Amino acid sequence: MSQFSVGVLGATGAVGQKFIRLLENHPWFSVTHVGASSRSAGKPYSEATHWIENVPIDTKVANLNVQDCDPAHFSDVDFVFSGLDSAVATDIEKSFAEAGIPVITNARNYRHFPTVPLLVPEVNPDHISLIKQQTFDPKGKGFIVTNPNCVCVPLVTAIRPIFNKYGVENIVMTSMQAISGAGYPGVPSLDITANVVPYIDGEEGKIGKEPLKLLGKLQDGKINHAKFQVQATATRVPVIEGHLLSVTMTLKEQPASIDELISVWKSWKSPIADLNLPTAPATPVKVYDDPRYPQPRVHAYIENGMQVSVGRIRKAEVMDVSFIALAHNTVRGAAGGAILNAELLVKKNYISK
Ligand code: NAP
Repeated sequence: MSQFSVGVLGATGAVGQKFIRLLENHPWFSVTHVGASSRSAGKPYSEATHWIENVPIDTKVANLNVQDCDPAHFSDVDFVFSGLDSAVATDIEKSFAEAGIPVITNARNYRHFPTVPLLVPEVNPDHISLIKQQTFDPKGKGFIVTNPNCVCVPLVTAIRPIFNKYGVENIVMTSMQAISGAGYPGVPSLDITANVVPYIDGEEGKIGKEPLKLLGKLQDGKINHAKFQVQATATRVPVIEGHLLSVTMTLKEQPASIDELISVWKSWKSPIADLNLPTAPATPVKVYDDPRYPQPRVHAYIENGMQVSVGRIRKAEVMDVSFIALAHNTVRGAAGGAILNAELLVKKNYISK
């Protein structure tokens, strides 16, 4: 396959940098255009960006000139990834879709549009057919696909096997979210050093709403949202990468035993397992038996940061079952998840040259 030419919008931000890093040696995609605000436009990428990744900038991207996020400057690309600030994403992403350029975004702005897939390939790959109903581009080439909030990714990926078999009635959970989730410069050091901040603005609402669309059923071209409630507490902890979740659920049907439930978890096969997508982890949900696992520093980067780890599965004293889940927030929960979305879209012929 010859390489797809790709633009990254918001390329100078924390998620944008992760895109540049993860795409450096991608077998299908090559970054040819980078976009950011007028503060950065006109400068070489290496000069406009305060680089925070712990590997050097890909040299071919370092020398690209940053453009304003105007689709006219991106007419040569096959599609764009977006790591745009949500304050500006609505109009910019729409203008790209209208110009016939597919947009695969991390921003929250279009997540609840009825015709926009909120996509995790291992969870709801069938939802991509919603794209056919989008009207941004009369020629049908431009569209928008979103990925979920970085806590919702480990939550829905972890519960997918259990939701399929037993159904979910209610969830009570606490997220322990890494500092990198707040972008750069992010949380003030005096707030987060040797401390926990028990509140993240806007986060609990997203955790309550997005799983219902993600686990919804596509019927007659519409998503029938799943029906359960999530009581979430979102906290910021002094961890650099990896969001850890403590989750307790009530199920609609009861497993015969916790061992049966664990074996459902361990034997689950991802619906995209046979597609050979380059970024797809071999084991999308890894279940640990050791009660000390998973831990952000030890497990967040396994399978290049694309694996969701689950551990401490146990019978709950209140409700039915408790467990811990972990995922790398800027890889699986942001840029890596979006790259996997793009690979699925290529494989299913929604993106072509
Ligand atoms: P960030 O570090 O603040 O980066 C924001 C980017 O948007 C920068 O490239 C910035 O360019 C660009 N931008 C700002 N105003 C602009 C304008 N008027 N026109 C064009 N570009 C503009 O934020 P982030 O943490 O990378 O997050 C990016 C997006 O991903 C957000 O929507 C966020 O909610 C979402 N997200 C983040 C995470 C995470 O873990 N961090 C996870 C999931 C989703 P300049 O450098 O030129 O200002």
